[in-house]
Amino acid sequence: MRCIGIFGGTFNPIHLGHLRLAEELATDLNFAEVCFIPSANPPHKSSPSVSAQQRAEMVSLSIQANPKFKLDTLELERNGASYTIDTLKIFREKLGVSTSICLIMGSDAFARLDSWHEWQTLIDYCHIVLVPRPNAKVTTLSAILEDFLNVHYTENQADLSDHAAGFITMQTTTALDISSTQIRSQLAANKSIRYLVPENLLEYINQHHFYTSHDH
Ligand code: ATP
Repeated sequence: MRCIGIFGGTFNPIHLGHLRLAEELATDLNFAEVCFIPSANPPHKSSPSVSAQQRAEMVSLSIQANPKFKLDTLELERNGASYTIDTLKIFREKLGVSTSICLIMGSDAFARLDSWHEWQTLIDYCHIVLVPRPNAKVTTLSAILEDFLNVHYTENQADLSDHAAGFITMQTTTALDISSTQIRSQLAANKSIRYLVPENLLEYINQHHFYTSHDH
């Protein structure tokens, strides 16, 4: 069946680590599209210094040349906390059961999954595709997450396209040790972030003086 990737994040800002992994997964797992979904009020992070609209605008600029990449602002249009489970329910309702939905997640995000709202229900609505986060602090999974992983884990790629949801897989992508935190601190220290983000995004960030020291 048709497969789509869903990639949620704060994207504060989006960077080449995000873009490259989405590109590789789209090719390797045959995604018809990858939806980038900036979160509005991330339940796990303190309030970002740049507005949600601006984070979405930065995603939009960064993906505009790729016909498979889409921006979805549904979490910004919703009031209150944005939970991934609610987003998935909306996608599932819209797409029906004949589209496979693959939720893309870095290994660092997965290690905290058991703190997410209704996390055990996520797998009823999608597959989870894990990508290793280079140099992530080695985090051992909680026993309950370890169990969850074992129950749903597959190395058979066909499971992702034969079923609409229900499996977890690990996919290796080119290790790029880039983080939004690193980009924000480089800018705060007046250092270059060239080649960490797309060129047109670099211009936009510079124009708006995002993340520079007076912004903190
Ligand atoms: P911050 O540094 O502010 O925490 P971030 O760089 O982790 O931000 P997010 O928008 O929080 O960016 O990330 C969205 C998703 O992308 C998460 O699942 C995260 O694990 C994953 N991710 C981000 N950067 C990378 C990278 N360089 N390699 C692999 N996965 C990544």
